[in-house]
Amino acid sequence: MNRKRDLLKSLKIFENRLVVVVGAGVSGLAACRFLLTLGATVRLVDAKADLSQDVLLKVTQNPSAAGLTLEAGPHTAAQFADAHLVVLSPGVPVKKLAAVLANVEPWRVVAEMEFASWFLDEPVIAITGTNGKTTTTTLVGHILQHAGLVPFVGGNIGTPLCEYLMGETPADVLVIEISSFQLQNCRTFAPRVAALLNFSANHLDYHLDMEEYLAAKLNLFARQDHGANAIAPECMRAELEARNFTKAQRDYFTADTDFDCPGLPGLHNRENIAAAWRMVRPFGVTEAQARAAIANFRALPHRIEPVGVAAGVLFVNDSKATTLDSVAAAVKSLDRPVRLLMGGVFKGGVVADILPALKERVVSVGLFGASREVFEPVLAPHFPVSWDQTLEEAVRRQFAQAKPGDAILLSPATASFDAYSGYTERGRDFARVAAALADEQGAPNTEVRP
Ligand code: ADP
Repeated sequence: MNRKRDLLKSLKIFENRLVVVVGAGVSGLAACRFLLTLGATVRLVDAKADLSQDVLLKVTQNPSAAGLTLEAGPHTAAQFADAHLVVLSPGVPVKKLAAVLANVEPWRVVAEMEFASWFLDEPVIAITGTNGKTTTTTLVGHILQHAGLVPFVGGNIGTPLCEYLMGETPADVLVIEISSFQLQNCRTFAPRVAALLNFSANHLDYHLDMEEYLAAKLNLFARQDHGANAIAPECMRAELEARNFTKAQRDYFTADTDFDCPGLPGLHNRENIAAAWRMVRPFGVTEAQARAAIANFRALPHRIEPVGVAAGVLFVNDSKATTLDSVAAAVKSLDRPVRLLMGGVFKGGVVADILPALKERVVSVGLFGASREVFEPVLAPHFPVSWDQTLEEAVRRQFAQAKPGDAILLSPATASFDAYSGYTERGRDFARVAAALADEQGAPNTEVRP
């Protein structure tokens, strides 16, 4: 039971109001369902022209009686003209809707996360950053649970907040991963604990420049009050303080932590762990509880994940590495010669910036698929660089050159949409080729940790 939520629900505060929900993904559909319980009339719009009306059945068995409709295909201004509120799904970049939203007052347009936050009483830990959000969000939930609290872990990952709002059992703390897209459309959201894990080039295909991307991230801290906590990297202290970015108590972290976590390799993960500890401390978690929980945490799939060995060569799947910084972090976390696989849809950044990290371990680079023209000119003067059309061809080429003790690391620095439906499909394809190579070698595909 939650008194605020129950009150707002019973008031049917959206009765006779039209709400437009943009995006028919998991979060958008959950928002539709929740809005119907508030009495709203809901128009779901999605740019995919071939989206079937059947998607509405995931929301309610009788859409027309419930007041729910779907308009699929390119967005138009008419779709939004009569909207009382517009709720954006997490993956929807609002700038791309600028033309069709031109006549809608800006305050009517909110992220799903912002909308859901209106109905929350529970304290929120909100985590953003360029890299490590999912890992750290999951770790924070794991520590809280270990300390006897009931966390809800979700937002961008797993269960959408609107789904949580319809559940019966409130959590003690909500641990939420939040992206810069969502932060651009938050207007009142003020988490009890807000964390910025790191900041480097990402989504520059969408954000105008780094300044706009940083402004979106810092929006997380903008409305926090004195009793709240703001957690950020020590290396950003001067810049953040100069911007007077929050009223909350500031707590800066470095990789310098003595919590032991065999499941999370690399210096970058030490930063994630240090940040996580600062996030759980305000909730009364003791150092001993955190230590025990962190010690048995395992890395998530597709993040520096060892997936097999063939002829003494270790295969490491870091398909989730879609930024240059995460590639540098993965290379540095391995204590052996690395044959690095990169390629796909590049999202921005300066490739030369990661040369120092690569030079420590990388012995060859296998490019595959798109963005050859981005990587090859910068990397070829320093490493043997090859290019193949497919990931499988690139893995096989690297394996043919590899020596026992080497690692073949898929850490692509890109989104995968040139060839795959997402990073999980790309990671699974890599693991499949690794398994096939192990079979061809006549050796079992035994998993080892790097
Ligand atoms: P996100 O949810 O922000 O994409 P993930 O936890 O899914 O973050 O990790 C994405 C990629 O970033 C993985 O390749 C992971 O190894 C890498 N990574 C995780 N934490 C950091 C960090 N602090 N700095 C750089 N790279 C990181």
